[in-house]
Amino acid sequence: MNLRSRLAVCVSAFLLAVSTLTAADSRALTLEVDAREAPKKMFHAKLTIPAAPGALTLAYPKWIPGEHGPTGPIADLAGLRFSAAGKLVSWKRDPVDMYLFHLDVPPGADAIEVQLDFLSPAEVGLFSAGSSATSNLALVSWNQLLLYPANRKPDEILVAAALRLPEGWKWATALEPASGQPGNGKGVRFAPVTLTALVDSPVLTGGHFRVVTLADAPPAHRIDIAADSDAALEMSPELEGQYRSLVAETGALFGARHYGHYDFLLTLSDHTAHFGLEHHESSDDRVDERSLIDADRRKLMAGLLPHEMTHSWNGKYRRPSGLGIGSFQEPMRGDLLWVYEGLTEYLGQILSARSGLLTQDQYREDLALTAAEMDHQKGRAWRPLQDTAVAAQVLYGARADWAALRRGVDFYPESELLWLEADTLIRRETRGGKSLDDFCRLFHGGRTGPPTVVPYTFEDVVAALNQVVAHDWRGFWTKRLESTEPGAPLQGVLDGGWRLVYSEEIPDMQRAAEDTRKITDVRYSIGISVREDGTIPDLIPGSPAAAAGLGPGMKLVAVNGRRWSPAILREAIKKSKTQAIELLVESGEFFKTARLDYAGPERYPHLERDSARPDLLLQIIRPLASRPAETKKAKPAS
Ligand SMILES: [Zn+2]
Repeated sequence: MNLRSRLAVCVSAFLLAVSTLTAADSRALTLEVDAREAPKKMFHAKLTIPAAPGALTLAYPKWIPGEHGPTGPIADLAGLRFSAAGKLVSWKRDPVDMYLFHLDVPPGADAIEVQLDFLSPAEVGLFSAGSSATSNLALVSWNQLLLYPANRKPDEILVAAALRLPEGWKWATALEPASGQPGNGKGVRFAPVTLTALVDSPVLTGGHFRVVTLADAPPAHRIDIAADSDAALEMSPELEGQYRSLVAETGALFGARHYGHYDFLLTLSDHTAHFGLEHHESSDDRVDERSLIDADRRKLMAGLLPHEMTHSWNGKYRRPSGLGIGSFQEPMRGDLLWVYEGLTEYLGQILSARSGLLTQDQYREDLALTAAEMDHQKGRAWRPLQDTAVAAQVLYGARADWAALRRGVDFYPESELLWLEADTLIRRETRGGKSLDDFCRLFHGGRTGPPTVVPYTFEDVVAALNQVVAHDWRGFWTKRLESTEPGAPLQGVLDGGWRLVYSEEIPDMQRAAEDTRKITDVRYSIGISVREDGTIPDLIPGSPAAAAGLGPGMKLVAVNGRRWSPAILREAIKKSKTQAIELLVESGEFFKTARLDYAGPERYPHLERDSARPDLLLQIIRPLASRPAETKKAKPAS
């Protein structure tokens, strides 16, 4: 296999510089980022790019690792100026590829100086291209702040980066400060790394900042937290203990680590985009400001850090050969995202339960909600799961309306059900002797060491599964990935000893989501969810509400002649056996009354124990590691 480590790349870049490359290639590109205006959503950068006289094409990173799409925010690049030897140099954008810039390096010059501004969005945007800075904090994604020679591989380009921050702001990143210059009053200078490693190592910075140390023995594991308030930084000893358990559980599961240290870069703000983005030695995790101190929000974020950390093995160390290895400009191929994201979703959830971040009940409730949602994806009749992975680059940005007919990035939740089925199959066929844990150690373990990428193909996945237990794994996956049958693949739930059922009781995980997100979800009875202001963002095709003429974007005004509220809507569903439900809805400036053909109870998904089968789910979420020692008091920010 093609093993590539950052260290090996650094060394080979130097060797190449001596032997075959021009003098310009051997010098590090320097990048100075000024983030002092981050609170007003403005970043400035200055680059010196070694270059020889003649034509030069510079690239702005387009395909961002982990985002699985061409999400580099090129529209937010502004103030571009090139110069050489003190003179301005004119430039032209490529007429076809918007991410390329052409210029001529004048005779006698040995470098191009670049100045640029990055207009950091206040609201909209996908993943790291979304809102990333507030009055109190910022997440600096290097890929947004640089250009590089388009004819060279990011693995071969060395970058010496420096960063200036607002007065008093602390920072954390996977990067190491340059030796002897941990901070000179004018900002921090980092030791040169490859462009690949730089883009893989964002910086979290802020005025309200705290570092929680998770492991006493090396490698270091930390949660670096920047928040919009000091109050939000509080982490209970119990929660800290659960994250320490997460570190222990990942070690027990994979048997090796592919990083020198691991930093969760946790942003707590109601004014940044909310998502998680994986890196080799860190992750960019962004949630609501009160996520650590509010019980409901804590439940909702339980799976995020386990998911992103799992990616250090599944996604970074082992990566599908088509998913952005060694290039930011080459189109990615998402066909194996059901492994990259789907297996991560499965492992992230069971690691959450194994480490105590989710209780057993919460794990099962979450699984029931996933199973129910996939069971109502009507789009499965036209779009097989495999196509959701191939089309990931367009589906991440797809709207939420008619989601069940479109199918979104179902390769996350539906693959969780499929990997559960694979796990139960292995456990059954080996009479409990083996499990998917053995696959993880075999496929993702290897030797502990610095970040390395080992690409894989579908054949490699099949071969590794066959090493755990002989089975027609090719047929297993092909059938499920290409299926256009109705109904979710629920065999794993059944083989786990549980059944998907519906009752009138709202699952606690759903209630937490409803209270936090201000949404009322009655999709599995009448077919709609409703926002606080009455807007119906989406509904299920073929449901009573859809059959009555409702559509996404309409606004619920009244239920049975009375102004709507969550309680009034739920009451009407409860009484629908004796009184038909009439909804008054507004569509644009037009009103209509819809009479729903529904005479049933409220319906919410749950898992019900099947006592005829062993409880494999319980075995799957049982901790592997012994509990770490008594939680230590968190150390202050460094
Ligand atoms: Zn992921």
